[in-house]
Amino acid sequence: MLKLSPPADCASRCTAASWCSEEDLDKYGIHLLALSHVFLVPQLKLRCTKALVERLTNDNVVDVLQLARLCDAPDLHLKCMKLVSSNFKYVEKTEGWKFLQDHDPWLELQILQFIAETESRKKRRKRHREEQSLYLQLSEAMECLEHLCTEGCTSVGPSDVEPTKNKGPCSRFATCQGLQLLIRHFATCKMRVNGGCGRCKRMWQLFRLHSSICDQPDLCRVPLCRQFKLKAKQEKKDTDDGRWRLLVRKVVSAKAISSLSLPKRKREEEAGEMADHHGTRSLIRL
Ligand SMILES: [Zn+2]
Ligand SMILES: [Zn+2]
Ligand SMILES: [Zn+2]
Repeated sequence: MLKLSPPADCASRCTAASWCSEEDLDKYGIHLLALSHVFLVPQLKLRCTKALVERLTNDNVVDVLQLARLCDAPDLHLKCMKLVSSNFKYVEKTEGWKFLQDHDPWLELQILQFIAETESRKKRRKRHREEQSLYLQLSEAMECLEHLCTEGCTSVGPSDVEPTKNKGPCSRFATCQGLQLLIRHFATCKMRVNGGCGRCKRMWQLFRLHSSICDQPDLCRVPLCRQFKLKAKQEKKDTDDGRWRLLVRKVVSAKAISSLSLPKRKREEEAGEMADHHGTRSLIRL
């Protein structure tokens, strides 16, 4: 929709000098871009492209988008697409959009597709972030489980470790405490898995997950580790649980990523604190 043309003197001045003033750009940016494209004046074209990016608004974006496409200005084109996509609620009410719908349904379709792709990319990224945080939580739970079964922490620890040592709270106490509660429940629950207790089931899954990750089952202090390993070996011949293996792989890789970015558990600092938890300490004998 080129409604205004720049005065002839402005056009010839700018194309001849490959340059134009801010005032020219304000008034005739769109036309100068078209001229610079048609008359092959690359410096002027670059200047106009940048100026138009800075001057993009909800009201002019559809016009500029059409021009960017005609004048082969990919940066400007992309900027316009992004603005239309993020401000579509406003843009669809503009004259420019209505004009486009009537005269260029092909471009309309292209824009709508771009918006749909942007949305689904956003959703995918969000889902990925949520999944990563779940795997990271599981990987942290795995670390806490090993920590509880080897050195112990506040209220849970192995039966042969002197309870006056390493009683935490450790640096991941939020996770560790949740796990301690779960272990204490598991040790005393009457319903257990077959009885349909959800908490016990979760604990059972954590033990199984540990076993799938554990690479030293002979030295391992985590309950059921060897039993699960044995069972998995036997079952491998019959079934191949792809989903479970995928989960294990993701937890392992989340652990690898987090070990690069998080400081190691400060084990030395944990020792010697909270001596009064002695009495409530429950022992892992499952
Ligand atoms: Zn702990
Ligand atoms: Zn239970
Ligand atoms: Zn183990």
